[in-house]
Order: sequence, then structure tokens, then C-alpha cells
Amino acid sequence: MKATVCYKQNDLRTEDLPIPEISDNEVLIKMLACGLCGTDIQKIRGDSVQKPTVLGHEVVGEIIKKGKNVNKFNLGDRVITAIHVPCFTCHYCNKGHYTICEQFRTNNIDPGGFAEFIRIPELHLKHLTHKVSDNISDEEATLIEPIACCLHGLKQADIRANDSVLIMGAGTIGILHAQLAKIKGANKVIISDISEHKLQKALKVGCDYAINILEKNLADEIKRITNNQGVDVIIIAAGVSSLLSDAVNLVRRAGKIIVFSGFDNNKLVEIDASRFFKDEITIVGTYSVTPYEFPEALDLLEKRKLNTKEMITHVFPLDKLSEAINLSTNPKESVLKVIIKS
Ligand SMILES: [Zn+2]
Ligand SMILES: [Zn+2]
Repeated sequence: MKATVCYKQNDLRTEDLPIPEISDNEVLIKMLACGLCGTDIQKIRGDSVQKPTVLGHEVVGEIIKKGKNVNKFNLGDRVITAIHVPCFTCHYCNKGHYTICEQFRTNNIDPGGFAEFIRIPELHLKHLTHKVSDNISDEEATLIEPIACCLHGLKQADIRANDSVLIMGAGTIGILHAQLAKIKGANKVIISDISEHKLQKALKVGCDYAINILEKNLADEIKRITNNQGVDVIIIAAGVSSLLSDAVNLVRRAGKIIVFSGFDNNKLVEIDASRFFKDEITIVGTYSVTPYEFPEALDLLEKRKLNTKEMITHVFPLDKLSEAINLSTNPKESVLKVIIKS
């Protein structure tokens, strides 16, 4: 079968690999589509994961083979799955922090989403695999995992009716957050970025204000839009650590800041510490997704609550993953979500 293997930083090769063998409790899917995530690009370009490896985790596929003990699914079912399953019993899981469970990052689909055929292990099948209804296309189904990740973050945001929400970063994740914030009842959804085409997309899917921070002063705009109050919720959806200092200055009293991005560079930032006590602000980080957010993500797509059409801009074949990454990271391109198909 074809799979695109990452050998070392930026070295991707599409090769012939053996089709994974499955046990009695597992299934084999034929990959129909797999989203290219910002974290895949970070892993391919950085050194955070062991290589060689096959990346890709926003996958939808058709079950073409199943073990004799598998009753939950049938051959021909179109399913989505995700990559990590927590143990549900450790110190962190007991406190509800499933994504930092020790087991979480140790298990994976085999060999990864950027492959023609994928083995779904027993634990994934039990906790993370869901049938996709017919009214969701293959391309849309790849968004279920990122939508579920955003829902995981938004649980911490606790958006209430009438809240104003600022999303820093208008990439796929930022634009999903914007749409979900509206669904959760936010009154004013503001998004900021440096890319004009991304900001235009954000307006098309329902953002109320889109601010290009190369042209406008974000603090002034927020003051104007919120009548000098600041925003109730800020979601940082871009990996620039200085945004955290900005967010602390822009959040309303009793407001919440959700850090939804990895800050790998410039890890130390200065923040106005006086705001914690007298203004009761909160900063909370959220990473990845737990098994509990998938049903809601599926339901939102089934009920056509999200505009996904505007979000998926490009489709590439498996052996053009490098090209897909180059396009996706080129600030001059009008690109949002890129999907890989086998
Ligand atoms: Zn992802
Ligand atoms: Zn655990």
C-alpha cells in the first residue's frame, strides 16, 4: 500500500508499505480523506516526534476488514477515528484531564493517517471511532477531530449569552472556534490575524468583526467594539507567545483566556500580574481532545450547524504531501484547510 513516511525533518517519501495485519478485535480501514493539521506540519518540520513516522490524525475511512470479535461496526461503514486514547483510571484521568494521561500519547493508529490503509486498534475502536452519517462528505468528516478539539477548549471558556469573544488567529482552528462561539451564544465574535484572505473567510462564516493587526491597533479596536470593557473570552489560536501578554490586557474583568496553541519559541512572556487578583481573570491551557467531545462534533456536522464549505480550500493526493505543506504554510496563498486523499 502507499504511505507517505516522514524520515527526517522535511524529508517525506511516498513508499510501498505492507498493509497492516489486524487482530480479532480490530478493523482495517481504507483511508478516504485525512486533514492536514498544523501539528502535523510542526512534527514534520521540527524534532518533537521520533522518525521515521507516518503522521496524519484527522482521518475518515471505510471499514474493509474486521476482526471476528468486532460487533460495533460493519464492513462498508464510513468511520472517523482519532489518535490517542487515555487510560481512564490514572491520577489525571480521575481529575478529568484525559489529554495529559501518561497513556494518552503512547497509543496510535497504525501507521498514521497519511496511508492508504490504516489499522484501528481495539482501544481506538472502543472509545474514539464513530460512524459518519451519509450527509457528511469525506472532506467534511476530516473536520470532526479539529471541531472536537475546539469543543474541548470551549468547555473551559464557558461562553454565556451576550459574551464577547476574541479569537487570535484566523486559521482553520480560529475559524472553527469563531463558528462554535456563535453556536454557544456569543454575542460579538471578533477575530484577528495578519492574513487578509483568512479574515475575509472569517467574516463569510459569521464573525462580526475581523481585524487585520498589521493595519489596525487591536487594543484600540477592542476598546471601541466593547465600549472600553474588554472581551469576556479570548481564545489564542496562533502559536505566538506574545499574544498571551496582549490577551491579558484585552480581557474583560472576570474574563477567561484559553491558550489553544503551542508556544515553542520565546517561551517567557511578561504579563500584567495585577489583573488576577483585582480583576479575577483566568488563563487556562487546553490540549488535544478527549473521547467525550466527538459525539457533539458529529452532531453539529450532521445538523449542518457549521459552514465547512468555506473552510476546505485544497485537496491533494497522498504523494503530494510536501506540496500540500508548502502551500499551506505560504502566507501569500489563499489557503485554509488542506485535505489529503489516497
Ligand atoms: Zn489536528
Ligand atoms: Zn489516564
